[in-house]
Amino acid sequence: MSEIDKLRDRMDRITFDILRLLKERNDTAKEIGNLKSNLGLGVTNEERENQLRRKVVDLCSEIGLDEKSGLTTLNFLLNESIKIQSTNKPTHMSVFLKAKDMERQGKKIIHMEVGEPDFFPPEIVKTSLSEVYDMGYTKYGDPRGMEGFRQSIASHVAKNFAAKTDPQNIIVTPGARFSIFLAISTLLSPGNEIIVIEPAWPAYRDNALNCGIKVRTIHTSLEKGWEPSVDEIENTINQNTKMLVLNYPNNPTGKILPKKLLDDIMEIAMRKNIHVLSDEIYSSYAFRDWRSVLSYEYEKAIVTQSFSKSHAMTGFRIGYSISSKDTADKMARLQSLALTNVSEPIQYVAMKALEADTTGNTQKIRSRLRILVEKSKAMGLEFIEPDGAMYVFARFGRPQMDTIEFTNKLLDYGVAIAPGDGFGNYQGFVRISACQPEETLNQGMKIIEEVMRREI
Ligand code: PMP
Repeated sequence: MSEIDKLRDRMDRITFDILRLLKERNDTAKEIGNLKSNLGLGVTNEERENQLRRKVVDLCSEIGLDEKSGLTTLNFLLNESIKIQSTNKPTHMSVFLKAKDMERQGKKIIHMEVGEPDFFPPEIVKTSLSEVYDMGYTKYGDPRGMEGFRQSIASHVAKNFAAKTDPQNIIVTPGARFSIFLAISTLLSPGNEIIVIEPAWPAYRDNALNCGIKVRTIHTSLEKGWEPSVDEIENTINQNTKMLVLNYPNNPTGKILPKKLLDDIMEIAMRKNIHVLSDEIYSSYAFRDWRSVLSYEYEKAIVTQSFSKSHAMTGFRIGYSISSKDTADKMARLQSLALTNVSEPIQYVAMKALEADTTGNTQKIRSRLRILVEKSKAMGLEFIEPDGAMYVFARFGRPQMDTIEFTNKLLDYGVAIAPGDGFGNYQGFVRISACQPEETLNQGMKIIEEVMRREI
């Protein structure tokens, strides 16, 4: 056997050994997953992962392996375990699926689980929809979005977010969700890390997992006013960390960070040179001082915006991102690959929608939230009054209560709310949404109170 064949033979054996060990590791992860499920524990345990991370760093130095390679491989293994352990857990999705099923059978459900305004888009949307055909918006277009629309967005941003931007920094996407997908997919690579402050809308985590990126969770609590610890964020950042996600006003808590705290977090991100993905889709529902991350003029910030909530245009699938030109170009390349361009008729309609005054929507959600707040207080729920967004995120104050079970039961009484588990490790919490008329919300809250009294 030649020297190279011998080495190749050895290489094969090492590869097979790694695969055998991977199988053993996956089986063990499954066993741990079953135990966690029985004990009602969440899948990810940051403390435990950190212990392992430290041991891996020590091992790397002991055996002379580059630390970055060691930690990147560990991230791959940790994500494998998360995928394995996530499958045997009943999730918040079971509640939504059950609600749909019941509606198909003709049962009436009060929807207080959705983040979708029940009211109509501005009137100008209707008229512009009837104009697009004659205006000739019928062809392929620029993957970044129509120049005129991006110009209008730039003016809108200058007026509403007190930030200077330029059409070359903007790309139009089919909703903020797709901007988030584009940003995570183009700026991060498998084995990289992303920091998500929980509770959080699940798409950040799911997008990261989809790309083989490790999510590092910063847990925040009701007791600490949903404010993340600056030290914890700083200590979580390592050489694999590429992005921090912010979402204020927050879904589900409605929190807006105090200026000083946001300043401190941005200072860390800038010093550590990591991307900041700021999902600002609820900015038109900010009921106290709020500032866009754009105001920091940070080259590595990406802000996502949408017409879904501000203009009640969820079904139109239209939003945009603002970033450096370099990032916008990268995101546009992936958008071009995935869908050529966003439908121009819809872009035209959204451009016209920017002319509408949406303060009525803001007032409507604000007064509905007030109702939810009053009722939740009267029911003895534990929560912090939202500073913005469209939700109350509350705890029932019964530590042993299984919220997935409760929300499932509540459905039998005709009310859908979202269990806290969908937003991270928040058993015992529920998200109640203000996306129904006041009378319906009152009715829904009354039923929740009755079921609470009867069932827990
Ligand atoms: N970001 C957040 C925080 C959300 O809550 C949602 C919708 N629930 C989205 C983005 C999705 O927005 P879009 O409809 O523009 O994709």
